Amino acid sequence: MSAASTKTDIAATQAALKSGKQTSIELTTQLLAEIDKRRDLNAFVQITREQALKQAAASDALLRAGKGRALEGVPISIKANMCAKGIETTAASRVLEGFVPTYTATVVQKIMDAGAVIVGSTNMDEFGMGSSTENSCYGPSKNPIGVALGKPDLSPGGSSGGGAAAVAANLCFASLATDTGGSIRQPASFCGVVGFKPSYGLCSRWGIMAYASSLDQAGVIGKTVRDTATVLDVMIGEDVKDSTSLKPVGTSLVAALDDQAKKKWRVGFPREFRDLVQTPILKSVWEAAEQRVKAMGGELVEVSLPHAKYALPAYYILALSEASSNLARYDGVRYGHRSATASDITDMYEKSRAEGFGRETKKRILLGTFALSAGYYDQYYEKARRIRTLLANDFRAAFKSVDVLVWPTTPTPPFAFNSHSADPLTMYLEDVFTVPVNLAGLPAVSIPILSSPEGLPMGLTVTGPHLGDQAVARVAHEIEREIG
Ligand code: GLN
Repeated sequence: MSAASTKTDIAATQAALKSGKQTSIELTTQLLAEIDKRRDLNAFVQITREQALKQAAASDALLRAGKGRALEGVPISIKANMCAKGIETTAASRVLEGFVPTYTATVVQKIMDAGAVIVGSTNMDEFGMGSSTENSCYGPSKNPIGVALGKPDLSPGGSSGGGAAAVAANLCFASLATDTGGSIRQPASFCGVVGFKPSYGLCSRWGIMAYASSLDQAGVIGKTVRDTATVLDVMIGEDVKDSTSLKPVGTSLVAALDDQAKKKWRVGFPREFRDLVQTPILKSVWEAAEQRVKAMGGELVEVSLPHAKYALPAYYILALSEASSNLARYDGVRYGHRSATASDITDMYEKSRAEGFGRETKKRILLGTFALSAGYYDQYYEKARRIRTLLANDFRAAFKSVDVLVWPTTPTPPFAFNSHSADPLTMYLEDVFTVPVNLAGLPAVSIPILSSPEGLPMGLTVTGPHLGDQAVARVAHEIEREIG
C-alpha cells in the first residue's frame, strides 16, 4: 500500500479510501505524526489520538464492507468552542479550565455520524473574541505561510486561527469553525485557504459556546470550495435543540457546484467597500476579482450599500452587548474555574470571573454591559439594532439586481502579533469587510485570490442573499477554478 497523503483534498482522499488504495488508519496515523511535528504552529489545543485511531479503524471496516458514509474515514478538526463528549472544551478561556462536556454539539455529532475522524480541537481567541488568536489562554497560533517565509510572527487571523493554520499546514482535511463577525473568513484569508460561513440558521449552534447569539454561525474552513461544501452538506439541518435553526432549502451545496444549468452570473461590487480603503494591495484584489468574474463569463455590476459604513460600530455594540449577557453564566458554580481564595459567595463570583476571563473578554463584558444599561440602551444598543435593519435592507435591494456580491475579505495581508496592541481599535478595524455579512445573516465564502508582493495571501469574499448558499458556493467555485 502507498504512503498516505495528507496533502490532497477531500475528494481525492475519499477516492483513495473507497478504492482501498489507502486506509483511514494509515491516513490518520500519518496525520497525527504531522500534527506532532508541527507543534510550533500551536494550531491544536487538544489532540484526540486514541479516539481518532478507534474511529479510523471503524471507518476502515465500513469501507471494506462497501458501507462508507459521506465523510467516512476523513480526518477533520473542530474548534475549541464546540463541545465534544469527553474532550476538554474551554473556548480558549481559563474560566472553563477542566470543563469536560458530557454531550456533543449537534454539528460535531453530525460529522461523526457521517464517518469523519475527529483528530482534535483547534486554537482560537477566547470565546471567539478577536482577529488574531492573541486572546487565547493557550497563546497564539502561528501562520504556516509566514513560518514558511521566515516570518513566524505573522498572525493566522482569528478567531478560528488554529483551524485555518491546521488546514493550511495539511494537519487535517477541514476544520469546523464558527463565525460571528468574520472568524471563519478572515483566518481562511490569512492562511490562504477557503472559509465558508453559511446563512444564519442553516447550522445548529447547539453545544457550541455562545459569543453573540444573533450573529454566531457554524461553518467550515477547508482546502477548496468543494471540500467546504462537502462538509457543510453534512452539518446543515434543522435541529429541535436550536430554535433558530432552519430547514435547508434547494439542492445540496455539492450538487450546486456541479449544476451546469446557470448562466451568466451578475456579480455586484459595493462601491462603498471599494472607496473605503484604497491601498495598492486592495486595488490588486479588486482588479483580480474583476478579471476572474469576466473570465468566468460573469457580468460586473456596481451596487450601493449606503449604510455599510456604520456596520463596524453597530457590530461591536451588538456583539459585545450579547456577549455580556451570554458570558454571565461563567460564575465558578457549575463548571470551569473557581477561585480558591474567595471568602463568600459574591466574592467567589467576582474572583472566579476576574481570574478566569482574559483581558479582552473582560473589556468586552464591561462595554457590553454599559451599552445595555438604563439610560444608554437607546443611545447605543437600539441605534445599532436599527442600523442592522437598514443594512439588511441595503443588501436586499442590491440582490434585486445581482446574484452575488464580491469584495476583499480583509483590508490587509496577515499582520504581525502585537501590531495592534498600542491602539486596540485598529484591531477592530480589521473586521470592516467581514461583519456586514453577519449583521444581515448572509452566506459568504472567502477564497484565496492572490499573493502580495511578499508572498502573503489575500482572500476574496463571495456573498449572496440569505439562504442563497448554493449561488455563493457555485460562484466561489467558478472563480476558484479560474485562478487554478
Ligand atoms: N473579530 C471579530 C470579533 O472579535 C469576529 C470574531 C468572530 O467572528 N468570532 O468580534
